[in-house]
Amino acid sequence: MAYSVPKLEDYSPASVDKAVHELLSAVKEESLAISGEASWKEFRDRWMARKNGILTQVNDLWLKAAPGPAKRDVGSRVNQLKTEVEQAVDAAQQRMTASASIGRLDSEHLDVTLPGIRRPLGAEHPMLRTMNEIVNVFRAMGYSVADGPEIETDYLNFEALNFPPNHPARDTQDTIFVAGQEKKPQRDRLLLRTHTSPVQIRAMQATPPPIRIVVPGKVHRADTADATHSPIFHQVEGLAVDTNITFSDLKGTLDHAMKALFGSSVKTRFYPSFFPFTEPSADVQVTCFKCGGKGCRLCKMSGWIELLGCGMVDPNVFKFVESNGYDSRKVSGFAFGMGVERIAMLKYGIDDIQLFFQGDVRFLGQFV
Ligand SMILES: [Zn+2]
Repeated sequence: MAYSVPKLEDYSPASVDKAVHELLSAVKEESLAISGEASWKEFRDRWMARKNGILTQVNDLWLKAAPGPAKRDVGSRVNQLKTEVEQAVDAAQQRMTASASIGRLDSEHLDVTLPGIRRPLGAEHPMLRTMNEIVNVFRAMGYSVADGPEIETDYLNFEALNFPPNHPARDTQDTIFVAGQEKKPQRDRLLLRTHTSPVQIRAMQATPPPIRIVVPGKVHRADTADATHSPIFHQVEGLAVDTNITFSDLKGTLDHAMKALFGSSVKTRFYPSFFPFTEPSADVQVTCFKCGGKGCRLCKMSGWIELLGCGMVDPNVFKFVESNGYDSRKVSGFAFGMGVERIAMLKYGIDDIQLFFQGDVRFLGQFV
């Protein structure tokens, strides 16, 4: 829409005022019709563009054309008009910005009645929780926690634990060997530790007696995975060596530990067994914590559940650390070890060991 700026009939203050008044009502009317940035720019340019804007036309048609005596009076009225038009353009811009931010507020409106984003709670893995529970029982009895590498030498995993080379007892631990070790002497060859017991030797090499350690850790066997076997599993092992340690200390310690883990009503019993690094050796059974000893499916109707192996440290094992003060004529000790997954399975009624390693949140979420 192109305005034609009204021509002045004469340059008297009255006719200039009348023309100014007309333009001011036009500017007001137009500014109220602005609907967005584009129409505001159009509005601004129509009135204020240097070239051919309405104010420029007013300047040319009124001020420049005014006869000398009227110039001063017309000039002040034109300036007044200019100021008011500029104010109207600024005000229109402010109204536009304000209404745009109201639009943004509308789109950013927060509905506090919508359900929130719930962060799932983390929790200890049931295997780790069980392992920590076992470790804490022994820490409370004054044991310190020790650990060692998962890749071990043949010497520490077998030989120093009284499994001589070619001894049939080695066959009971299906071992995963590190490849390319054939050129080394057998005792230096590397393997994935089959039990946490090499940490016993490492601890006795590092610390003279007395010693009381509990050793949690991951171990490996070349077992085919099924509901009760896994090539990876975890053990907690313990060792106590001092003067005058007897089998009754071993029985008392483990009886206390089983009561601490499974409740004060469980009973323990010890059966003769064999491990190369202990003599004598025993398997420990506890009364079934499901049926209390009456007999149920969990305990295969026997009322007892076998949970761990133990024994008095074989004097042959002390020979390997004799130089550090482990003289079997002066000190004695006991060792024990248990499978963490097996205990967790019994404790929580889990029937498949693979569930511990699959990372299935539906399984793990039950332990939160
Ligand atoms: Zn039972």
